[in-house]
Amino acid sequence: MKKIGLFGGTFNPIHLGHLRAAEEISDIFALDRMIFIPSSYPPHKKKEGILAPHLRAEMVRLAVSDNPRFTLSEVELDRPGKSYSIETVEYFRRQLGPRTHLYFIVGLDAFLEITGWKEYASLFGLCHFVVMTRPGFEKKFSREHLPVELADEFCYDTQKGGYAHTSGFLVYPAEITGLDISSTRIREFLRKGNSIRYLVPPAVEAFIQTNHIYRNKDSEATG
Ligand code: ATP
Ligand code: MG
Repeated sequence: MKKIGLFGGTFNPIHLGHLRAAEEISDIFALDRMIFIPSSYPPHKKKEGILAPHLRAEMVRLAVSDNPRFTLSEVELDRPGKSYSIETVEYFRRQLGPRTHLYFIVGLDAFLEITGWKEYASLFGLCHFVVMTRPGFEKKFSREHLPVELADEFCYDTQKGGYAHTSGFLVYPAEITGLDISSTRIREFLRKGNSIRYLVPPAVEAFIQTNHIYRNKDSEATG
């Protein structure tokens, strides 16, 4: 049985908060691979201010290239229209087959918006969830963060340290080293012409400089 992490995000741009989180979750859950999945135009975010998908994906490629456990998937970029997690998880289920355990990785800030996701209830019957603490976001995961209307479908499994869904899949809270880095702040620094060194991998910083991206609002939504 292989264990694969699916880590979706806008990655606008990818930063060390994402990478360190993915590294720690890979260790905690003994994952064989962590797949980074940049969204095309995310359904929950306004399209304005989001850099073209292929540029965000390129930065993810650069960021993961030196880590043998990390890979990039462009599946959401190849799909026309908006990205929906349910379609992505179903895609990997089909691709990787039943002998693979899938772990959907998400920060608590993103998980709290799950009831707005397409067919979110079905997701709990398709894969495990790992809900990470998000630095700068005070809350820690607890039972009441599970969708209220599905509360009856979960019970806490003390042995496994997660909330077991009736499907057999679990929702695992995970505490990680808090690196309070966000893409929003990085874009702000860049707009002001400030350094983003030590917030992103050097290759990503170089890519941003070479391609003159994130310098002003106009350059952001190109493509
Ligand atoms: P933005 O500020 O544009 O929303 P972001 O930094 O939140 O960007 P996203 O691409 O929105 O990055 O996040 C993708 C996923 O990574 C989400 O599940 C989010 O909770 C998680 N994440 C983002 N930053 C961190 C961080 N510093 N530590 C842990 N998890 C993070
Ligand atoms: Mg975010």
